[in-house]
Amino acid sequence: MHPDVQEILISEDRIAAKVKELGERISEDYRGKDVLMVGILKGAVVFMADLIRHVNVPLAIDFMAVSSYGKSSESSGVVQILKDLDQSIEGRHVIVVEDIVDSGLTLRYMLDNLSTRKPASLKICTLLDKPSRRKADVTPDYNGFVIPDRFVVGYGLDYAENYRNLRDIAVLRPEVYSKG
Ligand code: 5GP
Repeated sequence: MHPDVQEILISEDRIAAKVKELGERISEDYRGKDVLMVGILKGAVVFMADLIRHVNVPLAIDFMAVSSYGKSSESSGVVQILKDLDQSIEGRHVIVVEDIVDSGLTLRYMLDNLSTRKPASLKICTLLDKPSRRKADVTPDYNGFVIPDRFVVGYGLDYAENYRNLRDIAVLRPEVYSKG
């Protein structure tokens, strides 16, 4: 275990089983359709890389990068698009892939923005959901795990750009935050 980790919340094995299950559900639900998966950088990268290998309908990928104004620990709902999609989504079946839905404010903004571009359908797939923190009206269509209100890292999720490479989803020791 990484020395900065206090507790593993979701193990690598449980993540792998869940990602496979989500990929299989998406494959069934989108049978006969082409999918465009839109990953939200950077947190969703690891999840999306594993997820797409369990989806067996025709699939393209694209990415968006957004930054939320306000305090770093809490999203304000005012979102700036740092990197937009490379392709049009008009008439396409879009699945937005997120690492975690917390307040939901970032995702609400993204969905409102993407729906103006006239996709054929627009759904959300998130690995983690913290519904206790929800401020915006967002319900993921596909969700891996509901987790309590704790700050987690690993499997793509960072603290100050570190720990994205951890294989499990974990909670850090409190000392790590006080190191600044
Ligand atoms: P929301 O707009 O839903 O509050 O913010 C979602 C974003 O906040 C996520 O995509 C993620 O980048 C970040 N976030 C929310 N909770 C956590 C957490 O527990 N750990 C990490 N590393 N990031 C989080």
